[in-house]
Amino acid sequence: MEDRLRLLYSLQKIDSSLDELRDLKGDLPKIVADLVQKVKERIGEKHALEETVKAALVRRDATDTEILSLREKAEKYKTQQFEVKTNRQYDMLAREIDAAQEAVARMTKELELLEGRATVARDDAARLVPEIETLEGELADQRNQLEAVNKEHEEEELKLKHEREKIVVRIKPADLTMYERIRKAKDGRAVVAVKRRACGGCYNRVPPQKVLELRKNDMFMTCERCGRILVSDEITEAASPI
Ligand SMILES: [Zn+2]
Repeated sequence: MEDRLRLLYSLQKIDSSLDELRDLKGDLPKIVADLVQKVKERIGEKHALEETVKAALVRRDATDTEILSLREKAEKYKTQQFEVKTNRQYDMLAREIDAAQEAVARMTKELELLEGRATVARDDAARLVPEIETLEGELADQRNQLEAVNKEHEEEELKLKHEREKIVVRIKPADLTMYERIRKAKDGRAVVAVKRRACGGCYNRVPPQKVLELRKNDMFMTCERCGRILVSDEITEAASPI
């Protein structure tokens, strides 16, 4: 039993040190992740706008070609009108010419719309360029800061994680589950020492009878107020320094 308490206390010490390291990084990991997402979104928007420009231009060119061919056709009909023998043929050609001219007018309007659409999309895409550059600069800055913090504590962090792995395999699964549950609920601190007859977590007074029992190190005892696992000085003093 004493071993089980000792292992949990050691685990707590390691986790507290790892928590401290994580706090040193502060918001940097989240800031970096958010910026990565933002840059990705803006680049996606820019890409979509460029595709709009491309599609509008392809349609504009096709419309342009069509207009040219309709005009040619109209000219050809006009020439033919001089050569026809009957009024009926003449009228038929006149109707064809009208139809071609109407189509040209309609397509010319469409052409303007397509050009307008391409211009708007091109301008919007261009506006995104400096925004993306600013975001990328910011991302590089924050990334450098995070890397510097990571590098500074890399060795310590690796050592702690390694120690943690070694300890975790020796802890009973049920004990570990209990530890993780309390740790999650209690601000990362599941195992605390009793100092001057008070809980090291919430500073609530621990009754003398409980302090005496605690010293036997033969069962899990929790603080009546905060529910954290209490350990005796014997356990804390025996714990290897990390
Ligand atoms: Zn407490």
